[in-house]
Amino acid sequence: MTEFGSNASGEGKLWLVGTGPGDPAHMTARAEQAICASEVIIGYGNYLEHISHLTSGKRLMTFPMGKERERAIEAVRLSIEGQQVALVSGGDAGIYGMASHVFEFLAEEGADALSEFELEAVPGVTAATAAAALIGSPLSQDFAVVSLSDRFVPWAQIERRLDAVLGADMVLVIYEPSSRHRPGHIEKARDVILRHRAPATPVAVVREASRPDQSVIFTTAAEMLEVSFDMRTTVIVGNSTTSVAAGFMITPRSYLAAE
Ligand code: SAH
Repeated sequence: MTEFGSNASGEGKLWLVGTGPGDPAHMTARAEQAICASEVIIGYGNYLEHISHLTSGKRLMTFPMGKERERAIEAVRLSIEGQQVALVSGGDAGIYGMASHVFEFLAEEGADALSEFELEAVPGVTAATAAAALIGSPLSQDFAVVSLSDRFVPWAQIERRLDAVLGADMVLVIYEPSSRHRPGHIEKARDVILRHRAPATPVAVVREASRPDQSVIFTTAAEMLEVSFDMRTTVIVGNSTTSVAAGFMITPRSYLAAE
């Protein structure tokens, strides 16, 4: 087994840090150590705001949407130069986050690049589990996350994945349900949901989980479009056994009785 950076000759280190859903209490101790140990912190502006209590005196590099690859390469370059660098993403950095840009770049450069600095990935609490924790136990059985963003994936492919996940009776977690630039995705996703699920299927809409403006709305597949969705919203659609009881969304752990 190769451990990242185990043969690193340089002094630099690159941390790929998931900072969790928002509240610093949901950031792991390792993520906090990584940020505190770093001289340079690179990430989207709003994620850096969530960790501002840890970053005074450090060099902060923010970047606009669309410049992810450039920033990932910059992070690698600074680490090779000998700096301690934290590349941060909200939630988990490996889930629709910055990690893939780093690994794809390293794959292009060849294995030698890894001998020049140390690399450590720090897992984070992803929005799916942060949202689930607020509403009960919706993810106790097989589930899948599908992002409705077509920035990197063609819409037809997204729709095929929705169809497959719903067709397999998995609980569906939707990230990026809405985009200012490309409206209509959640409406199209709802059409796929209703092809596979009963109209009364429980749906939870969780906005800003673990942040000051947090909100939770329980609705159903039939009525979900009455709720408003934005980019800070996660949607959880139950499977055929999910119910809402005592104010909680519950997917039973056992299916044996249903067979
Ligand atoms: N790397 C992140 C996901 C990035 S994709 C993670 O692991 O959580 C961005 C999407 O995540 C948003 O559009 C939204 O659907 C979801 N999300 C991130 N933080 C959230 C939060 N605090 N509350 C609700 N949804 C959130």
